Amino acid sequence: MQSLSVIIPIFNEEENIRALYERINQTITNIHLTDFEIIFINDGSKDSSISIIKSLAANDSHIKYIDLSRNFGHQNAVFAGMKYAKKETVVIIDADLQDPPEVIETLYQKLMEGYDVVYAQRMTRKGESWHKLLTAKYFYLFLEKLSDTPIPLDTGDFRIMTNKVNQTVCNMPERNKFLRGQIAWTGFNQTYIEYERQARFSGTTKYSYAKMFKFAMDGISAFSNFPLKLSTWMGFFTALVAVGMFIYTLYVRLFTNDFIKGWSSLMVTLLFIGGIQLICIGILGEYLGRVLDNVRGRPPFVVKDSNISEVKE
Ligand code: UDP
Ligand code: MG
Repeated sequence: MQSLSVIIPIFNEEENIRALYERINQTITNIHLTDFEIIFINDGSKDSSISIIKSLAANDSHIKYIDLSRNFGHQNAVFAGMKYAKKETVVIIDADLQDPPEVIETLYQKLMEGYDVVYAQRMTRKGESWHKLLTAKYFYLFLEKLSDTPIPLDTGDFRIMTNKVNQTVCNMPERNKFLRGQIAWTGFNQTYIEYERQARFSGTTKYSYAKMFKFAMDGISAFSNFPLKLSTWMGFFTALVAVGMFIYTLYVRLFTNDFIKGWSSLMVTLLFIGGIQLICIGILGEYLGRVLDNVRGRPPFVVKDSNISEVKE
């Protein structure tokens, strides 16, 4: 008989928590699991999420909560849950019911066939804006091309894994987490099942464009050094263009009479090189900032309150 931890990050999800809890409970009953825990991580919600969680916890000893001291972001909230998940298998699921809790049964059964990770791949995504779908699609295609670790397309963090994989990821000290990539990186025996991603049950997305951009940069910088190499290639390319310009200038100077009209080409070259230099400095900055985050060694999250005894130590 196996046991299960379910990790749910919560940021202003007051309208979803009860429905989510009911459906997860039902699913776990269907799998005939008695040894399980549902860990809610309150990521600095401003609504009544934490009091709803606490009242559920008062009536059900399977419910654990970790109340963070402020909003640390989705990935850090999930990480907090992973760190304190004690059971043999671990599920990560969003709170907004976009990932149907019933799919956990399929994930669990697949894992029991002898896998270490089963991720849920989205066949369709409902109720999301076209620009979110478009940016997500191209980001993952781009990342797949760049990354040295194959990161599955069309997946979020909705997945099940053995605690062995969970512990491996917990022992990675890197500060800017990209968990779906880190889990893929661990290796072991990984597979997937397909599901239909639903629209949010209630509320709106908690991923602003600023958060999405940071997340995308975390993913790229954690799994590829290509952007750093890009500056070298852009340098070569600019140099090549400069050689061409040099030959052209010489030709115009020696064989024609309109060599003074060089202003526009000069401006174009200047702007082009200036632009490339700024891009390269920006790329270096993105990586450097992340190095700094790691050197500072601050914890990825701070706990304010919890009903898990180890958290308080
Ligand atoms: N979330 C969080 N902290 C944040 C943003 C989001 O814990 O800073 C949680 C949120 O409550 C939800 C999950 O992460 O359970 C996924 O967020 P959301 O549904 O807003 O993202 P989307 O599905 O739109 O990508
Ligand atoms: Mg969502």
